[in-house]
Amino acid sequence: MKGLREILEDADARRVAVGHFNIAELAALNGIFAAARELNFPVIIGVSEGERAFIGVRRAAALVRSLREEFDYPIFLNADHTHSLDKVREAAEAGFDEILFDGSALPREENIKQTAEAARIAREAGRGIGKDIVVEGEIGYIGADSEVIAEKPDLVLSTPEEAVEFVKATGVDVLAPAVGNMHGLLKSMVSGTARKRLDIPRIAEIKAAIGAAGCRFMTSHGGSGTEDADFTAAAKAGMTIIHVSSELRLAWRRGVEEGLKEKPEEIAPYKILPPAAEGIRKIVLDRLRLFNAA
Ligand SMILES: [Zn+2]
Repeated sequence: MKGLREILEDADARRVAVGHFNIAELAALNGIFAAARELNFPVIIGVSEGERAFIGVRRAAALVRSLREEFDYPIFLNADHTHSLDKVREAAEAGFDEILFDGSALPREENIKQTAEAARIAREAGRGIGKDIVVEGEIGYIGADSEVIAEKPDLVLSTPEEAVEFVKATGVDVLAPAVGNMHGLLKSMVSGTARKRLDIPRIAEIKAAIGAAGCRFMTSHGGSGTEDADFTAAAKAGMTIIHVSSELRLAWRRGVEEGLKEKPEEIAPYKILPPAAEGIRKIVLDRLRLFNAA
């Protein structure tokens, strides 16, 4: 079966994007996997440091690997937003397929230095267990939390010059730039019709610039609440991976509330949680179609 790097190369060649969806428990994993299988698209499962702490680092790796093996399916695991080198090593040794070292809050030089070190650690640990780990680094500022927030944070957009300097100095496989994307959902997106808009020309410029510097892949974080057409345009312009998390968390919560309301006397979790998995499945289906519409 193809590894993650080959899946990304294939997506890049066809100018479509691989969907990345976060989980903290099984209803989300089941919903995401059901949607991916229905469309037969590869998929990446993400676990942030908080999600990893809740599930367990090795348990997260075992869960995703079990699906890959049982269904002979291209499903992969990313250590999303990893902030320390110790946690990079921990995820690499546990068998993660991808690691995002996020030093975007650090001063520029320090982000470069630590990301380069994270790449070295991840690749060395990966070689130790026969795994070709894909390493991602992040620049710019797109907000911190996948939550519902009242106000838009001050975004710091990335430039092609900064992107080239970063990929050359760190040797990352994947770059996560700031191109109008943003973590979290604004209240006006949840209760109204506000939408995030991506800077498509900027995506194309950064893609061309880093491609010439030997970095082929890009990730768009914070996809929740983005205008539908922008997803497809971003994939066409060179985004290889697109992340969606906050919307799934919102669907999970609504699904749990629905499950509890429908069955007020029920105590079996597997009878309460199906609406949460179903809400997540529907969103993932819709987003995967958009990411692959190019
Ligand atoms: Zn993110």
